[in-house]
Formats: sequence, structure tokens, C-alpha cells
Amino acid sequence: MTINKLKISCIQLIVLLSLSVCSQPQSSRTEFVLGGTVCTITLFEQGKDSVYRDIFSRLREIENLMSVNIPSSDVSRINATAGVKPVQVHDDVFIVIERAVYYAQLSGGAFDPSVGPLVSLWGIGSNNAKVPSPAEIDKVLPLINWQDIELDPQTKSVYLKNKGMALDLGAIAKGYAADETAAMIKKTTVERAIIDLGGNILILGEKKDKSLWKVGVQDPYGSRGSYIGILQITEKTVVTSGVYERFFEEGETRYHHIFSPSNGFPVNNGFLSVIIITNNSMNADALSTAVFVLGYEKGRKLVELLPETEAIFIFEDRSIRKTAGTDFTLTDNSFRLVD
Ligand code: FAD
Ligand code: MG
Repeated sequence: MTINKLKISCIQLIVLLSLSVCSQPQSSRTEFVLGGTVCTITLFEQGKDSVYRDIFSRLREIENLMSVNIPSSDVSRINATAGVKPVQVHDDVFIVIERAVYYAQLSGGAFDPSVGPLVSLWGIGSNNAKVPSPAEIDKVLPLINWQDIELDPQTKSVYLKNKGMALDLGAIAKGYAADETAAMIKKTTVERAIIDLGGNILILGEKKDKSLWKVGVQDPYGSRGSYIGILQITEKTVVTSGVYERFFEEGETRYHHIFSPSNGFPVNNGFLSVIIITNNSMNADALSTAVFVLGYEKGRKLVELLPETEAIFIFEDRSIRKTAGTDFTLTDNSFRLVD
């Protein structure tokens, strides 16, 4: 992970405690988990050491199961035996892959967890990032196909049908990790909490004065911590996919990390970022990436089909669109709220 990514990933969305009335005592803890992602947990009242310890050890467990950069992880084992044999996996891993395949189908393959060979080829976020040759892209494209992922719910095993295929759960696993963290906190006496896994935010509970939580939306062109508007929410998750999160530049062109499974290039459809607001963080994570790849028209249609799901779309031309149920106030007039 580059320093750039570390800095940027922790500030895409900021829960504005100073702007909100938060008189109750709070404590928070930050650790680098999930591949060096800045993960901050804030527990209001009763924020015991043991709760923090258990949460971060659970996050490390999820990383150890799902990281493609850990050779012993279940995902690495699935990738290593692609085209050879199925691999029995931990329940956590099966749940996430099953949901990833669901979103692949729902998005007509725009979201595709078998994008691994493209992620490796481009190397975005590593020191070996490069623009691949057309021949290299043509070689990996046939390997990107979620329909070649075979799942057996009976044995909890996963099989990639073709040699060279590889899963990458980077677009969905942080969401699952946030949901798991929320489930752990709900079992304690803590009533209010903010889970922030690299800008993938989940808010638990109501504020004491019943006012809404305020989340600052990062200025995609701006400096660290500057925001362009405020989103007001109840107990929800807010997840972003954007071009400014992880990228490299060659010449005049910026190459970011969200790929079109059909042409093998970073998606270029006018979006700077897509923000999804809903109840389940794994769904929000998958959906933010899926909508980013689908583009505005198809992406918005998909969001509007789903219950209790809202979105904000931020474009390169500084226009912003949002779905009807989104409580977003623009504070930076260099952007335009279109609808
Ligand atoms: P999202 O939009 O949610 O996801 C984008 C990511 O999804 C891309 O980076 C790519 O991995 C994948 N992707 C790209 N296109 C598509 C597509 N069309 N369909 C589906 N998926 C796509 N980063 C490191 O640098 N080193 C690590 O060791 C490392 N380990 C990690 C371990 C875990 C368990 C997790 C959850 C993440 C890890 N990461 C690591 C970060 C990871 O590689 C992603 O970059 C990150 O999760 C991107 O999240 P996002 O919210 O910024 O973007
Ligand atoms: Mg995502």
C-alpha cells in the first residue's frame, strides 16, 4: 500500500463529531489492518479495552482469510488451485464470495470478484504499477468471468474453473468486516459507535439528542480533510468508490483501481466517486463498486430498484447528483448539485 493511499483512504468520508452534538464521552482506537487500511473504531460510553482488542483481532482474522497478499489465506488457496480442484473455505469466506457472485449477477458482470488477474497485471497501489500492453490485457480478459466460479454450499467449497483465474475481494471484504464489527459491538453494552474502515463507514445507534449524524463528503480535488458537503444520516453505512483512492499517473493520464471487466482498463465514465448509503455495509461496498463500473444511468437505475438504498454520484465536471432519499447539503459552491 502506498503512503498516498493511506492518507487518502482514511478521509474520504469523515464523521463530523465537532459539528454534531456529542456530549457523551467517547474513545477511539486506530490500527492498520486489512492490508494497511486505516481502521478507526469509536465507541461512545463503555469503550472498554477488551472490546477494542476483540474487534481488531476479528479484523485481523478476516484479513488472514481473505487477503490475496497472504499466501495461507483461503482466497490465496482458491487462486492457487484454480483449474485443478475446489477448496473448502471458512464460513466467512464463503459468505463473502456468495454475496460477491450475487452482485456480479445483479450488475450483469460489471462487478466481478474474479478480477484478480487484472488487479495483478496493473499493480495499482504497488511499486510495480504500469500500463499493460494490449496483448497482456487480451491474455487475461478471458479469465475474468464470475460465471466460472463454482460454489458448493454443502461443502462450503469454491472452485475456479480455469487455470490462471484469481479472486480479489478488495471491493467487498471491508464491508463484511464492518458488518462483523457492528455485530460484535451490538453484543456489548455500547449503544453508539462509529466504525471507519478506510472511509467505509458504519454508524451504530442514535445520538442522545436524537439529531442526525453528520458525515462530511471529501472533496475529491481538495486537500486532506476538506469536504464539499454534509450528509445527514441515522444508523446507516456509507461507502465510497472513487478514482482518487488508489491510482498512478503516467503522462497526463490517471489510472485508478476500478476496472472494466469487459475492456480491462480503469473505468472511465465521468465519475469521480459513487457513495452508497444503506443498512448493510457488505451490500454497500459491492454496490459502490458495481455502480461505479455500470456508469450513471444504469447504476442509478440499479440503486433505485433496491430497498432502503440511496446514492450520491460525483462527476469530473463538478456536478453532483443524488437519489431522492439522500439528505445531502452542498457546502462548496465550486460544485453543482444537479438533482
Ligand atoms: P472499492 O471500489 O470497494 O474496490 C476496488 C477494488 O476492488 C480494487 O482495488 C480491486 O481490488 C477490486 N476491483 C477492481 N475492479 C473491480 C470490479 N470491476 N469488480 C470487482 N472488484 C473490482 N491493499 C494493499 O495494497 N495491500 C494489501 O496487502 C491489501 N490487503 C487487503 C486485504 C483485505 C482483506 C482487504 C479487504 C483489502 C486489502 N487491500 C490491500 C486493499 C484492497 O486491495 C483494495 O484496494 C481496497 O479494498 C479497495 O477498496 P476501496 O473501498 O478503495 O474501493
Ligand atoms: Mg466496494
